[in-house]
Amino acid sequence: MQELSRTQPILDWDTRAELLDKLDALLRDNQDTLAQSISSDFGYRSTSETQFAELFPSFTGITHAKKNGKSWMKTRRVAISALYLPAHNEIQPQPLGLIGIMVPWNYPLYLAIGPMIDALTAGNRIMIKMSEAAPKFAQAFAEAIAQYFSSDMVSVVLGEVDIATEFSKLPFDHLLYTGSTEVGKKVMAAAAPNLTPVTLELGGKSPVIVLDDANLESAVNRVMMGKTINAGQTCIAPDYVLIQRPLHQRFIELAKEWMQAHYPDIANNEDYSYIINQQQFDRVQGYVESLPADSVHKTTDVDANIETRLMPPVIVTEPALDSDVMQNEIFAPVLPLMHYDTLDDAIDFINDRPRPLALYVFGNDDRSIEQIRTHTVSGGVCINEVIIHVAQHDLPFGGVGHSGMGSYHGKAGFERLSHMKPVFVQSKLNGLNLFLPPYDKLFKRAMGMFLK
Ligand code: NAD
Repeated sequence: MQELSRTQPILDWDTRAELLDKLDALLRDNQDTLAQSISSDFGYRSTSETQFAELFPSFTGITHAKKNGKSWMKTRRVAISALYLPAHNEIQPQPLGLIGIMVPWNYPLYLAIGPMIDALTAGNRIMIKMSEAAPKFAQAFAEAIAQYFSSDMVSVVLGEVDIATEFSKLPFDHLLYTGSTEVGKKVMAAAAPNLTPVTLELGGKSPVIVLDDANLESAVNRVMMGKTINAGQTCIAPDYVLIQRPLHQRFIELAKEWMQAHYPDIANNEDYSYIINQQQFDRVQGYVESLPADSVHKTTDVDANIETRLMPPVIVTEPALDSDVMQNEIFAPVLPLMHYDTLDDAIDFINDRPRPLALYVFGNDDRSIEQIRTHTVSGGVCINEVIIHVAQHDLPFGGVGHSGMGSYHGKAGFERLSHMKPVFVQSKLNGLNLFLPPYDKLFKRAMGMFLK
C-alpha cells in the first residue's frame, strides 16, 4: 500500500470525492448491521445513541469534507516579505501516503470513520486496526469495508493486543491513535524508531465548573446528558464537577428528577447503554465500593447489575483526592461533586492535574468565564454545554499534554494528514544576486541597515 501511495498518489479531487461517496454509501447501506453489532459488543447499546453519536457525525463529517475538500487541497499563495518581491510563496497540500488508524471500543464506528474522512479527503491510503474489545463490530466493519473499497485503498486489521502492538510498529506516513493515555505512550514509543509522526487522541479527566450564577437546572440537564450517553463511556464525558458545597444536595435532587424524566424504568430502558465488558464493570464498581457509603448517591432505585452490566448513574460527594475516582479517568456513569471556595481555587484544582481533554463551564458571568478560559489549558472547551464541540467540523478536535497530541476533524484533520508543502517561487527579476561574495560595500551597507 505504501509503495502504491508513492507511485499512484491520489491527487485529483474527483477520486477523493468518489471515495467519500463510497464511505457514505457503506454507512447508509449497513447502518443497521453496524449498530446491531455494536450493541452485541456492549451487551446492549441503544441504537438511538449509535445514530446520534456515531452515524450522524459521520454523515455530516462526510458532507462537510465533500463541500470543502476541493478548496482545502488547492495550492494557494501566501504572503511574502517585500524584501523578496517579485518572488512569491505558495503552500501546496500533498497526500502523506499511508495512514495508520487505531480505534478504541467506546465509539468504534465514529472513531474509525472520523479519521478516515480526513485521511481520504487528504488523498491517503489507510490501514485501520479495530479494537479487540468490540470484536463483532470490528468483523462487521471489516466486511463492509472490503465490499466498498479495494484492499490497496483501505484495509482493516483485526486481532488482539499483540496484533495492535505489531500494527503500531509499522512504518506509516502518519499514525492516528485514539485510546487511553497509557497505551498512547506505548504507541508513540513504537512509532519512534520509524520516525512515524503520531496524532494521539487520548483520555483523562474532563472537569465541569459550575459558577455561582449558573442556572443549576440547565447545568444538571447537560451534565447528566454527558454522563449518561453511552453510560459515561465517552472520552469527553464530564468526569467530575467543581461546584460549591451548599449546591451539592440540590444537584443530586435535580439529577434524580432528570433520570426519572429521561430514563424512567432504567432496568428496562432501550435508550440506556451497558458497560462494555466485565473488566470495565468490575473496575468502576471497585472504585465506587471503596468510597464511604454515605458519599454515594443513587440517581435511580436500581442497583448496578453484574450479570447484565447495567450501571445506573451514581453521584459521589467529595471523594478523597487519592481515591480511585479522583485518580483515574472514570469512563462510566459515576459523577463526583467536588467543592471549591474561590474561582482561583477551582482553576488551581484543574491546573494541578494533567491537562484535560475537555473543560466545561456553566454560568453567566463573562469575567469569570473569561478567567477560566484564559487560565486553564485543555483540549477543548464548551460554555454552558458539554460534548457538543466534538461535532463541530469547523473546530479542530484533540487533546493537549496527557490528553493528546495534534488535532483533527474538518480542515484541521485535512492539514494534519497532508504535507502542507511550502514552495518559494523565484522571479526572473530578483535582488538576491546582490548578496553573493565577495561581500562588497553595498552588501555591508544593506546588512548594516537591516541589523541595526
Ligand atoms: P485502549 O488504549 O485500551 O485501546 C485503544 C487501541 O489501542 C485499540 O485499538 C487496541 O487494540 C490498541 N492497543 C491496546 N493495547 C495496545 C498496545 N499495548 N500497543 C498498541 N496498541 C494497543 O483504549 P480503549 O480502552 O479502547 O479506549 C478508552 C480510552 O480511549 C479512554 O481513555 C478514552 O478517554 C480514550 N478515548 C479518547 C478519545 C479521543 O478522541 N481523545 C475518544 C475515545 C476514547
